[in-house]
Amino acid sequence: MAMVKANAYGHGVLPIVHFASEELGAKNFGLATLSEAIEIREELPQLKAELYVFSDVQIALKDGSEIYLNRRILPVISQLSDLEFFLAHRDFSHCPLVLKFNTGMNRLGLGMDEVSQVIDLLKKSGRKSIHHLMTHLASSSKGLEHEQNKRQIENYLALKKDFRASAIEIEHSSLANSGAIEEKIANVDGTTSFVRPGLMLFGGGHSSEIISRLETYILHSFPVKKGTPIGYEGILAPSDGQILIMALGYGDGITNSYQGVELNYRGQRGYIFGRVNMDMAQVFFPEGDYFNHHDPKGETLILWGDRGREGFDKLVKQAKLIPYEAYCLLSRRIPRVYTS
Ligand SMILES: *Cc1c(COP(=O)(O)O)cnc(C)c1O
Repeated sequence: MAMVKANAYGHGVLPIVHFASEELGAKNFGLATLSEAIEIREELPQLKAELYVFSDVQIALKDGSEIYLNRRILPVISQLSDLEFFLAHRDFSHCPLVLKFNTGMNRLGLGMDEVSQVIDLLKKSGRKSIHHLMTHLASSSKGLEHEQNKRQIENYLALKKDFRASAIEIEHSSLANSGAIEEKIANVDGTTSFVRPGLMLFGGGHSSEIISRLETYILHSFPVKKGTPIGYEGILAPSDGQILIMALGYGDGITNSYQGVELNYRGQRGYIFGRVNMDMAQVFFPEGDYFNHHDPKGETLILWGDRGREGFDKLVKQAKLIPYEAYCLLSRRIPRVYTS
């Protein structure tokens, strides 16, 4: 199940889903909100794949059942009240049941202390199977020996046992995100049939290469003397050098946390300097001589993608972000260009 919530981690959900489905044969996609799933169904009407909505399911919405059933969207149920609603609603009686349990992450999820209630509800409604049973690990990348992971996996196995003991079949199950897949804890019991990678599809896990390059271009360039005030709040140039103005700002997702992030331009080392603006940012190059005989105006400046995973990891760290944030921050204003 390819997790493509938040605009496919900023990469543009429609082309990514189309490619994953047509070229890679992906048949299941995970979204966070109902509106994300609706967008895919409306924009990709030919798509032959299941869509799962994980967190903002809005199942009790007026016309909720119609929205789910008519567009073939599956709610991932993680609260008892939603389960009651789902089972009480005749329209949902043929809709596959997907349950997510809280095995110790303590975020969303049906509680371990609610298992017997869930079993009673299923029995009363005549359900004999769970289509897909899920849980999610809090510290997946810490591996199988991590105490919290051990406890969560114990709970996951106990859940399955409880359902089977009550003659409720579990058709599919999953617990692994990218970190868990990389730590090889995807199929702990031999019957876990799915994995749910997100970040590793795009690069950013331990082992995966990034699939994107973020580039912009240079709007303007000029030499500065030490002490020249630059941009908003007049932050003073720390030395003589060259300022390049790049065409990315917080309106594009390059927030002020990018201040100080190192960038390379044709082997010259600079860094994002002063306040980031909505539509642009200053990049300061202390060794300005190079620019005496080269005008960078209109040229390309690459933020990530030219120095592989290492370059990306370094940039994200300097920006005080995690890879997920760097991707998701990218606003719709940035054109996504796809090559394959
Ligand atoms: C987002 C998400 C994933 C994917 O996580 P990654 O760390 O990006 O691989 C898997 N499962 C659930 C429930 C999620 O919300």
